[in-house]
Amino acid sequence: MGRRLLLPHTRRLMLFLRPMRYSASATATATAGSLRDPLHVCVVGSGPAGFYTAEKMLKGREGVRVDIIDRLPTPFGLVRSGVAPDHPETKIVVNQFSRVAANPRCSFFGNVTLGSDLSLSELRKTYDVVVLAYGAESDRSFGIPGEDLRGIHSAREFVWWYNGHPDMCNLAPDLTNTDSAVVLGQGNVALDVARILLRCTTELASTDIADYALDALRSSTIRKVYLVGRRGPVQAACTAKELREILGLKNVNVYIKEADLATSPADKEEMRNSRIKRRVYELLSKAATVHQENNDNDRKELHFVFFRKPTKFLPSEDGSTVGAMELEKTLLKDDGATGKQVAVGTGEFEELKCGIVLKSIGYKSLPIEGLSFDKYRGVVPNLRGRVLSSESETATVEPGLYVVGWLKRGPTGIVATNLHCAEETVDSILEDDRKGLFTDPSGPKRQGRRGLLEILEQKNARYVPFDGWEKIDTKEKADGELKNKPREKITRWNELLEAAREG
Ligand code: NAP
Repeated sequence: MGRRLLLPHTRRLMLFLRPMRYSASATATATAGSLRDPLHVCVVGSGPAGFYTAEKMLKGREGVRVDIIDRLPTPFGLVRSGVAPDHPETKIVVNQFSRVAANPRCSFFGNVTLGSDLSLSELRKTYDVVVLAYGAESDRSFGIPGEDLRGIHSAREFVWWYNGHPDMCNLAPDLTNTDSAVVLGQGNVALDVARILLRCTTELASTDIADYALDALRSSTIRKVYLVGRRGPVQAACTAKELREILGLKNVNVYIKEADLATSPADKEEMRNSRIKRRVYELLSKAATVHQENNDNDRKELHFVFFRKPTKFLPSEDGSTVGAMELEKTLLKDDGATGKQVAVGTGEFEELKCGIVLKSIGYKSLPIEGLSFDKYRGVVPNLRGRVLSSESETATVEPGLYVVGWLKRGPTGIVATNLHCAEETVDSILEDDRKGLFTDPSGPKRQGRRGLLEILEQKNARYVPFDGWEKIDTKEKADGELKNKPREKITRWNELLEAAREG
């Protein structure tokens, strides 16, 4: 399905689905049970989208019981493994999520993987409502030559590594074979990874960065970071606050070519329509004119490279690792259909030497068995959070199945964006509940938590309850205190599971 068809198509679908889906509910409404009746809800994924959904469900429906499952033994998803260690204020939201978990009508089951410990169909037979909130745990790729060379990592892998995610604790990026790193993309994740590479390690030492990452950054030889964007400064995907922060790093000189700051009428129009773009452009323009101090050998360099499209990853001389990027110069053209300015190659190429590349062009959600998936957009097709059976015009609503967060709308937005996203999905659930769609007296009785526990026991799956996480939390905080850090994260699977049992 073409992208441009999506909006009109979605509207057509809504018109088509409403009468079809709810014709059955007209009779069901008459038999709908009281809102005090139990409603068994399972949320898959304990990041912000999952916890906001649980919170809204608990507030919005008296008899609801919410179970949150997560494949990690630890809750909070991207707040724990995505938010940068030097952004502690963004992590405060976990206090709110912990209060949700403490609600007697809510339970957490960590170390439970949908797809291997239990299937989607088992889950749907067990719960009245299943809400998928498992986010985006993979990466977009370029599909250009050399992408599998050593020394090339996705930003997600690098972020998971410095944040102590147990799947990436062995990544060991080599930060000592080069003085130059290239970051591809200019969104906030790109700024995060560039900032971590450039920031003084004395400043990082008092954050919750993983200890092995701090050690590696202390011995890093990287002095220059190139942030490469295929479009111009007006189109940089970062936001002003994050840009201001990286431009203000101590001991870092910033380089921006004056020529790249020239604006076209279309750029001016974009800035007129967006305060963020205007602010980002102003900050970059100002940074370009600041006198750079060169008298200190300790100063690192941040280079903004605009209008360059990656075309090849080139090997180092001995072929053992990445040695340079081949970039094609670009121009911006109105693509006609969307009115967006897109980058088109000029046929002029150049090389940028480097010893490590971090690809920061977006996260990607993964499909699971039994779930429809829009491969092009990397989301589950849905109508206001109600999962659709396919992307086609004849799609039907999957009863009792909902989606929220990055899996619903794609990998964009800050933590708080998930609050509105969760509200929309929960509104859909509550609307369906009021229509009696979950209380068909002739339908099977869902067991909820009891059923989940039976399945986990049959499969010998050892889950981590919320108080198991609290034991991990206590240990991490105690270990951190010894080093003047908010916490020292436990980064290995077996140690996490051990810590969850102890105490
Ligand atoms: P993003 O904001 O979508 O940025 C992706 C970047 O990759 C853009 O510069 C984009 O350029 C570029 N890109 C995509 N495909 C490309 C290709 N084929 N070739 C070259 N460049 C390509 O994604 P993100 O940085 O991963 O961030 C995800 C979300 O998390 C964002 O909403 C972000 O604001 C949020 N976040 C927020 C914070 C914070 O608030 N502190 C921190 C981290 C993340 P084009 O624009 O040309 O497509």
